[in-house]
Amino acid sequence: LRVVFTPIHRRDKGITGTIAMLHDVTEQEQLEDARREFVANVSHELRTPLTTMKSYLEALDDGAIEDPALAHRFVGVMRNETERMIRLVNDLLHLSRLDSRNALISKVPTNIPDMLEEVADRFSFQLHQKAISIEIDAGADIQSVMLDRDQIDQVLDNLVSNAIKYTPEGGAIALRATLTEKAWLEIAVQDNGIGIPRKDLTRIFDRFYRVDKARSRNMGGTGLGLSIAREIVKAHGGTIALDSELNQGTRVTFALPVQQMEGEPA
Ligand code: ADP
Repeated sequence: LRVVFTPIHRRDKGITGTIAMLHDVTEQEQLEDARREFVANVSHELRTPLTTMKSYLEALDDGAIEDPALAHRFVGVMRNETERMIRLVNDLLHLSRLDSRNALISKVPTNIPDMLEEVADRFSFQLHQKAISIEIDAGADIQSVMLDRDQIDQVLDNLVSNAIKYTPEGGAIALRATLTEKAWLEIAVQDNGIGIPRKDLTRIFDRFYRVDKARSRNMGGTGLGLSIAREIVKAHGGTIALDSELNQGTRVTFALPVQQMEGEPA
């Protein structure tokens, strides 16, 4: 709290009292700290690939360009770094759109079992590469639900891509959808991968927070996937939670309030 004292002047009586105003600055300061930290993080995340590219460009300029095999490898590295920067900037733009109040959610009737099958299809190549199995289980009572299909696809993509990134070869992923008694659609993405240490759980949805920065970077991560997922779920009026046990696996569950389609049982 910040206290500001203002004397009360009366025309001929001089100072007759004092007004004390209490300002709650903590919230404001916290916001300011968070903003500073965010800008520092963004700058750092962009500087790393830029410095890498600079040194490869210098090496090319210093003669590596004459060696086609070497030059080809260097260009490959620079392409990867560029792609990571593009992903980062796209994620940042997406977050800033979600932050601005006018984040528009345009809901369309969506068949949930189909939606889950399609996520698995999008990742079939990566799943195959790591020999990870995927099981889909959507209760028979779940058919069409109103939701912003593009945005929820983004949530599912972020969660499934994490499940694949942080699960060793031969692992297993499960996607489960259930309707709760209170008419919420609950979707869980579960893996049996490396898990998350307990001490990191409270910060895991924070922007740029990663358990292992180097590992996340190597996997092409931006550290924004879970924050984006949380913002999208929030924009739907829903909730998201993560449970994890180190070396056992992780489960992320999000729940959305459901408006049933007309003509279907509630
Ligand atoms: P990233 O791009 O680093 O994956 P996210 O915001 O998606 O960023 O996730 C933040 C961090 O949470 C990751 O760096 C990783 O440490 C941890 N994490 C997320 N999902 C999982 C998972 N399924 N298993 C283990 N760790 C996970």
